[in-house]
Amino acid sequence: MKSSVDFVKGPSNEERKKIDLYNRGVVNFYKAKFLKDLKSELNQEVILNIIDTCYKHGDNYFAELSIDLPNEIACKKGCGYCCHTIVMVTPAELFYIYNYIMTSLDDLTRAKIFGGIKNQVQYFHGRSWFEIYSNPRKLRCPMLIDFSCSIYQARTFVCRGYHGIKKNFCKNQYQNNLHISQANYGHLVDVYQNHLVAVGEACEEVGLEGDYISLVKGLGILIDQPDAMEKWMNGEKVFADAAVDKAFLTAVQI
Ligand code: SF4
Repeated sequence: MKSSVDFVKGPSNEERKKIDLYNRGVVNFYKAKFLKDLKSELNQEVILNIIDTCYKHGDNYFAELSIDLPNEIACKKGCGYCCHTIVMVTPAELFYIYNYIMTSLDDLTRAKIFGGIKNQVQYFHGRSWFEIYSNPRKLRCPMLIDFSCSIYQARTFVCRGYHGIKKNFCKNQYQNNLHISQANYGHLVDVYQNHLVAVGEACEEVGLEGDYISLVKGLGILIDQPDAMEKWMNGEKVFADAAVDKAFLTAVQI
């Protein structure tokens, strides 16, 4: 499907209807597929494959929809202005990222990431989500090393869908310690949002935690509890402490 989206007006109604229809199909298709996968066998490989499938499909579809847009997407590996916020994932995605950190990164990078996660979890402790969110500079993602995403291939659905058109705008917001909310093309954000929904809903339907949690707090739990994935696969609520307040989520819409 090719896109002919106007930057100012957004997609035409007709175009948007086609995209929305396709997106609904994506959610239904992947949810059904994942339900089948999860019911037939539940192990680490199945979970990692589900996320891998989503990342690949999402990336291809995002690239397809990005063709011929009036403004080029400015985001590239090596730019980290927007990596100072609260990033949300579901547990299944968290396992994929944790596995990538454990198997694809060198010891020094992994140690830096783990140190950053521990510091940030400590900073979160005793603070409300509103207070935490009010200071973006303190929310530097622990995976951002030398201002570049160290897990770029395994970055989250949210990170993949977040995109800016003007790098200078992002830079300016960052320099002024403001949140960067420059996801200009809603239909592109939806690409990954739909995969996120499909994964979360499929997990919840088979009795697994599938709600949104904080990436950093979730990774903190995985570092402290090596058997967390096993417990999660047994239906235990492992990530309750990483849940983000629903009132806060509704208020800031991240
Ligand atoms: S995971 Fe990577 S892209 Fe996402 S916020 Fe962290 S550093 Fe940025």
